[in-house]
Amino acid sequence: MPYSSNELTVGIDASEAKTVSKARPIGKARAITTCSPDRQAIVDTALADTVELANAAADAATSGDVAYVAKEAGSTSDNIKHYCTDPWSEQGSCRKNFLAHEWAQYSMIVNCEIYYTLLMTGLPTVREGQDEATTAVHEFTHLPAVYDPPTSDFRYGNEVLLLESEQALENADNYATYATAVYLNCSLAA
Ligand SMILES: [Zn+2]
Repeated sequence: MPYSSNELTVGIDASEAKTVSKARPIGKARAITTCSPDRQAIVDTALADTVELANAAADAATSGDVAYVAKEAGSTSDNIKHYCTDPWSEQGSCRKNFLAHEWAQYSMIVNCEIYYTLLMTGLPTVREGQDEATTAVHEFTHLPAVYDPPTSDFRYGNEVLLLESEQALENADNYATYATAVYLNCSLAA
């Protein structure tokens, strides 16, 4: 499988990862500000899926602490503020056609408008697709309050496979890609 070229994938045992991640409760999403009821429901689902993806990835990974992403995505604390819409739309990166972005200094994750129109809802079904949960995994790893050291954006999408192992461990989309790969292997092992 293509993801095996990535340092992060060393030591995957898909069937074992599935057993362990299923044994854990799915976390309850924290309160999210500026949400309409429709968007609140979408983000609640995305965060529950994020917990599942990150737990599966954490169980399978030999490096990187993706479990912190699962812990935070399932938390009811307001340690991280997750916004349904950009509260600072004039300054924010949503203007640059981003799906979502984060303000690390404020421990904020912001979903942009196209998060709701371009991304798939629910757990991933294909490795190449972008969805709401893997986007959340990506953003969580950027926040120093969640993931230390926080990740950067060196490459996106399939290009993450081009990174050397050291940069791969510091690249947000490697975690999203890896979580998707592990999760889909888990499904195939069923
Ligand atoms: Zn990013």
